Amino acid sequence: MTRQLESTAHLRAHDYRWLVKRWRALAKRAGWSVRKFATEDGYPVYAVASPRRDGPRLYLSAGIHGDEPAATEALVTWVEKRMRALQQCELLIFPCLNPWGLQHNSRNDANGRDLNRGYHRSDVPVIEAQKRLVQGRVFDAAVMLHEDFDAQGSYLYEIPGARPFWGEQLLASAASHVPREPRSRVEGRKCRRGLIRTRVTPETLPEHPEAFFLRFGHTKRSLTFETPSEFSLTARVRAHCAVLDEVLRLAKG
Ligand SMILES: [Zn+2]
Repeated sequence: MTRQLESTAHLRAHDYRWLVKRWRALAKRAGWSVRKFATEDGYPVYAVASPRRDGPRLYLSAGIHGDEPAATEALVTWVEKRMRALQQCELLIFPCLNPWGLQHNSRNDANGRDLNRGYHRSDVPVIEAQKRLVQGRVFDAAVMLHEDFDAQGSYLYEIPGARPFWGEQLLASAASHVPREPRSRVEGRKCRRGLIRTRVTPETLPEHPEAFFLRFGHTKRSLTFETPSEFSLTARVRAHCAVLDEVLRLAKG
């Protein structure tokens, strides 16, 4: 993509209909399904799925927080760019779990709920519908893309499950676009050169994020990548894309 086209795409980073249009077009080309699985605050919420394959099984998600536009933008950009390689993979993708939030540049949904603290509950319709969709599925890796207004660099939550760990390599891949988080503590957790690797139990956080839901039933590799919101959108998108490239490379073995 040329620099000019890239910046045009970024101008529409909060345009949910445009995002859906791009996903529909690429899914059609790839032969994947686009399924509306819920309606949240008046917006349709979609899952994009490939047919079952023998290659890496990947769960990819973005936009559960609507004020983190590099995440949704990067996911669609990366999948557009890597469509050929992704044909070998078994994919379940949630392009934007909080469309109202994306459209209104809001972390929370229209009811003021942080959806990423709602996976322990059974009364959030979009999450319940998502859980039903994921039921019985196992993935080689689950990647949740996020952003953080307080961050000074990129960082990654890696919930331990499978060795070798991937965290170091994922952060290294992003570092040429956005440097690593310099702080030694992030959200109360120890952060070492951008890497937050802590074991979790259901009691670690009473309000479960998506990463817990995935780790406790669907994958041994639950990875949450965060870029700093104050950096340029182009650099943030590139950092997310670099991490996804590295996930794909590692998942292929
Ligand atoms: Zn977030």
